[in-house]
Amino acid sequence: MLICRRQTKEWLPRSSHLPRARTKEDVSLIEQSVARSGQETTTEPPPAYVLRGLGLYELHAEDILAAYQGAGRWLVPSGTTPGIVYEVRVGRRPGRDRCECTGYQHHGHCSHHVAAERVAKKSAVCDSCGQRRWWSELVEVHEEDGISWHPGDRLCRSCIRAGAWL
Ligand SMILES: [Zn+2]
Ligand SMILES: [Zn+2]
Repeated sequence: MLICRRQTKEWLPRSSHLPRARTKEDVSLIEQSVARSGQETTTEPPPAYVLRGLGLYELHAEDILAAYQGAGRWLVPSGTTPGIVYEVRVGRRPGRDRCECTGYQHHGHCSHHVAAERVAKKSAVCDSCGQRRWWSELVEVHEEDGISWHPGDRLCRSCIRAGAWL
């Protein structure tokens, strides 16, 4: 019993240090990269799923926007299998996000969600036609503008051209 305890005591602190242990080479590499990047403290590149997600966004941003399902639900094409589309949910609060792909079930993140989140951030729903539009296509109503719309309402340029503003 006594021997067993001693061993445990010796063993525990070491194991708690293990995941953080760095070799001298690692440390000097980190110091070099910090010195090179100046004030920047984060030198790691984005994870692979983020890069894949940005790639999906570059390729399919217009399709993803056009296929918006409402209520934070998006359809994002697979980056590897043509014809496959995943339903992604981008929640306003953390914990409401999800994607139906297996990667998301395992890791809690995936490239489809990254792509959908980016489209979501760059767009909003037009209060006139109800279509999801890029921010660059939307005009916000201010207090002095017209009487049909409330301040903060957003109208897309097609609706404005069609006379919705008046
Ligand atoms: Zn996914
Ligand atoms: Zn509109």
